[in-house]
Amino acid sequence: MSVAFRDYYEILGVKRDATEKEIKTAYRKLARKWHPDLHTGKDKEVAEEKIKQVNEAYEVLSDKEKRSKYDRLGTNWRDGQDFRPPPDTEGFHFYTGTDAGASGFSDFFETLFGGGSRFGGATRTARRTGPVRGRDIEAELELALEEAYRGGEKSLQLTTRELCQVCGGAGIEGNAFCRMCGGTGETPGVKTLAVKIPPGVRDGSRIRLKGQGGEGLGGGSRGDLYLKVKLLPHSVFKVKGEDLETEVIIRPEQAVLGDQISVPTLDGPVLMKVPPGMRAGKRLRLRGKGLPNPKGRGDEYVVVKIDIPGHLSAEEEQLYRQLAALRREV
Ligand SMILES: [Zn+2]
Repeated sequence: MSVAFRDYYEILGVKRDATEKEIKTAYRKLARKWHPDLHTGKDKEVAEEKIKQVNEAYEVLSDKEKRSKYDRLGTNWRDGQDFRPPPDTEGFHFYTGTDAGASGFSDFFETLFGGGSRFGGATRTARRTGPVRGRDIEAELELALEEAYRGGEKSLQLTTRELCQVCGGAGIEGNAFCRMCGGTGETPGVKTLAVKIPPGVRDGSRIRLKGQGGEGLGGGSRGDLYLKVKLLPHSVFKVKGEDLETEVIIRPEQAVLGDQISVPTLDGPVLMKVPPGMRAGKRLRLRGKGLPNPKGRGDEYVVVKIDIPGHLSAEEEQLYRQLAALRREV
């Protein structure tokens, strides 16, 4: 099966390297020229077909992702030519069912991008079918281990694309393009949110902020914002699920005789007993000093390293020699 190739650049009358602004200007001019209300009789049919093509071309060329996908097809295609997507091109869907044309776009468009449409498309749908719920948005939230452990409130700045307040997302005011958003139906904004972080939140878990996602259309409710937690690497602790791991260094005589040593935990330093005859690399467990879990808390594992003193006093050296002599006698 093949479809007719559409040359979107030719339809808008712009060069292939046209800027976003040039594309928008060209689109506005053509949208005005072919506005069906300005034509009658046979001309109106022509205008309706033209405006469809112009809208479709703009839908693709005004969207970075769609435009780059379209551009990847290369420059050898001509408008109306038989088009068959390369068989092993990732992300191309061939729509052959009754869905084709449901969006009002050409089979070529459906082949390339499927039935989906971006924000602007939802606006059109909203006018036909009533309220549409806003999109859910996912963003990353970087947290220090201490913040994740204690939880609490954190303020977060988000850049947003809000529905234009002047035209309500339609992009049009009367017979002209909206002066606020220039016809896109959206305006950029910055939003500050206070995020409640549940104590013990884990790497990869998602915090849902109800109603903080994309704005709904036609009276639809807002989508939700999901914050995916990313724990930042910590200088002292490694996180292993609900457990923590840390390293301490002791001296040879502490390893041999045992001792009480100070060990860092998320609640501050604690004293830990090192049993006599401690071997290097052994892990000691501090029960309940890990991250919170439904039953309580995970554990902290202390990996013991033994450091050999670099410089010995005369007396220390003497004692080591005595030790060595004792060992030989045994
Ligand atoms: Zn507007």
